[in-house]
Amino acid sequence: MLKMRCPACETEYQDSDLVYLDIGNTVLHQDCVKRVDKKDEGTYKEIIHQYDFFEELR
Ligand SMILES: [Zn+2]
Repeated sequence: MLKMRCPACETEYQDSDLVYLDIGNTVLHQDCVKRVDKKDEGTYKEIIHQYDFFEELR
């Protein structure tokens, strides 16, 4: 299974990590960004199941 890393801290996401999805469809830890053009938020698991372009990460 593919895993995505946070571009800020370079840590692999865990299912329960709290993340933002920005308007460029980049996933970022909520704790790693001060300001973000937020499109969605939730746990990593919720976000990758909500958007079809993350299908290969499920
Ligand atoms: Zn991070």
